Amino acid sequence: MPKITALLAVLVLAVWPPAASTQDLPKASADRMETRIKALAEFGKNADGGVDRVAYSDADKAGRAYIIGQLRSLGLEVRVDAAANIFARRSGTDPSAKPILFGSHIDSVPGGGNYDGPTGVIAAIEAMELLNTAGHTTRHPLELVVFSNEEGGLVGSLAMRGHLKPEALAVVNASGRSIGDGTNFIGGNIDEIASATVTPGSYEAFIELHIEQGGILDEEKLDIGVVEGIVGIGWWDVTIEGYANHGGTTAMNNRRDAMVTAAELTLAVNRIALTTPGRQVATVGRIQAFPGAPNVIPGRVEMSLEIRDLEQAKIDGIFAAIEKEAQQIAARSGTKVSFEYLEVASEPAPTDPRMRKVIEKATRNMGYSYRYLPSGAGHDAQDMVHLAPTGMIFVPSVGGVSHSPNEFTTPEAMAKGADVLARTIMAIDAGSLGEH
Ligand SMILES: [Zn+2]
Repeated sequence: MPKITALLAVLVLAVWPPAASTQDLPKASADRMETRIKALAEFGKNADGGVDRVAYSDADKAGRAYIIGQLRSLGLEVRVDAAANIFARRSGTDPSAKPILFGSHIDSVPGGGNYDGPTGVIAAIEAMELLNTAGHTTRHPLELVVFSNEEGGLVGSLAMRGHLKPEALAVVNASGRSIGDGTNFIGGNIDEIASATVTPGSYEAFIELHIEQGGILDEEKLDIGVVEGIVGIGWWDVTIEGYANHGGTTAMNNRRDAMVTAAELTLAVNRIALTTPGRQVATVGRIQAFPGAPNVIPGRVEMSLEIRDLEQAKIDGIFAAIEKEAQQIAARSGTKVSFEYLEVASEPAPTDPRMRKVIEKATRNMGYSYRYLPSGAGHDAQDMVHLAPTGMIFVPSVGGVSHSPNEFTTPEAMAKGADVLARTIMAIDAGSLGEH
């Protein structure tokens, strides 16, 4: 080979095949995503235009079969783990590289909508489709995941963490099946549930795209939410003890009325959460007076207290302020207030700061508008933060509606989300997270 040709050959080899950049990916197809959303919405369709696709129902099983068909048609290798999580793998060029995981869920609450969960799964499918169209093979293997029974307590992701408690298996949901039987019904194997456990560090990253479920992005007319984390939830049972007495014969200045204390305390909860700097929320959502008769001064009131924030210290601080004020109210009114902390509460789950940056950059590169925001609702991502660097992408919910047949996200908004998801995957594949 003449020298000059050899040199040319080296040059050509050096630039061919071209390193695929994120710009090489086509844009996501809003039409294709809408078609898939509508097809999935047929499984468990209800009269209100939403779905009853509760985990372990016939509709859930049929919806999963539809999704598996879509995944196979894209040439992905599908497997279902013992917890009935669906995984669809696309090989990478480097067998030693850790897989990049992304996905969401397709089960719904009873009387649910067509976007909470499915949007993330359909966007993940779209990302795979875009890579196929571009003919781009990533270095890392890619895995799409459809978590089982998200709405019934993050069952699939808890099992991946190895945190699904044996006593949870007997819990029956609206499908009429228990978590144990239901998992088997949709393709899992509850006897082998331990095999679903994933060792922390097995994945390069995890990304979940989801509808916001709140109204911030819609109100501010923004395309993308870069999720800072899933807020922690503190729950308390509050008991107020006064003295039950005749509502007709007991003078107003001689009462120890548990209900009046409860009312003052409820106002205090609202005021403290509202006036303390920060984005915390606090709610009294349940209240019951005893004995509960129109002509008896309540001797006891039981009520709930919930506080949510991205930081545990903030939750603790708000609670301390509420408790202090409760004791002052109690002292004034001759009642007694006690708080019992409930273990069902969950800790805040911040996303990985590097993942936020990667998502932000992918969003900017597309020219889409965005903001950072917390997630007030729970997601499988809150389990995944313990297994891999985790990021979440929100797309707008029209009117902030969710867990309702009126849930809606426009096809264009979904497509923008899929664009960001696909480019986030590409950036991570190119090493954006650095060594970890
Ligand atoms: Zn969801």
